[in-house]
Amino acid sequence: MHQCYYCEQIFDSKEALYEHVEVHSDVERNKEIRDRKKNKQED
Ligand SMILES: [Zn+2]
Repeated sequence: MHQCYYCEQIFDSKEALYEHVEVHSDVERNKEIRDRKKNKQED
């Protein structure tokens, strides 16, 4: 049993968990890019 440490969803295989975690890291990356753009506008 493998649990996502972001949303606590349960997966049968490590592979399924890894694929799922990509969703979270994409969200984090997009948020970073958006924050960076926002900061640039404020300068
Ligand atoms: Zn998750």
